[in-house]
Amino acid sequence: MLQRLREQVLEANLELVRRNLVLYTFGNASGISREEGLVVIKPSGVPYEQMKPEHLVVTDLAGNIVEGTLRPSSDLPTHLVLYREFAEIGGVAHTHSEYATAWAQARKPIPCFGTTHADYFHGPVPATSDLTDQEIAEEYEKNTGHAIVRSLRQTRPSATPGVLVAHHGPFAWGEDAGAAAHNAVILEALARMAYFTLGINAAAQPAGNTLHDKHYLRKHGKDAYYGQVEDKR
Ligand SMILES: [Zn+2]
Repeated sequence: MLQRLREQVLEANLELVRRNLVLYTFGNASGISREEGLVVIKPSGVPYEQMKPEHLVVTDLAGNIVEGTLRPSSDLPTHLVLYREFAEIGGVAHTHSEYATAWAQARKPIPCFGTTHADYFHGPVPATSDLTDQEIAEEYEKNTGHAIVRSLRQTRPSATPGVLVAHHGPFAWGEDAGAAAHNAVILEALARMAYFTLGINAAAQPAGNTLHDKHYLRKHGKDAYYGQVEDKR
């Protein structure tokens, strides 16, 4: 079942490892078939080097296992909230990548200091608010998803393809699992560059709106002209 999606999701998980975004097993990527309403996600606790497409777990949007003998990633409920809330996304990636996690732990949104950021995010990378004690005690992973959704009130998931979960780490998404992993890699690079920018000049200011809009909209606006016709990423 969903062989191609399984291969895509496995590849996205391995990409996170290749790019050094994953410490041991602190990471997971998933993808969804919107036609079938089924999600494919990394299994919990299987070493990446042994992971095969058949190890991935297929669930419905309520989290019921449809196919697979292994337990899904414990962050599955977070992924499911994002798929239910954001109809336009097809993949989710979560890591504890070092610089993005440092910003998340500091609970600081990442300002758009330059065009690398503006090419992907139309605005700062938001940080979520803290979960309450009750939200942590009951349905923690699901409430993490709701905190992410709340942090996107002012924007759209396509214009903000990732957020920092306070005291935890980054979640990123995209049109499929591969795009989600790609955005997780970009988010880590932005976090790292922003950290250095403030190290060089603690009073550095975000790029102005004109430059920010220029870079974001030339790639993502209705009149986008960056790249080839079939490649607007
Ligand atoms: Zn985590």
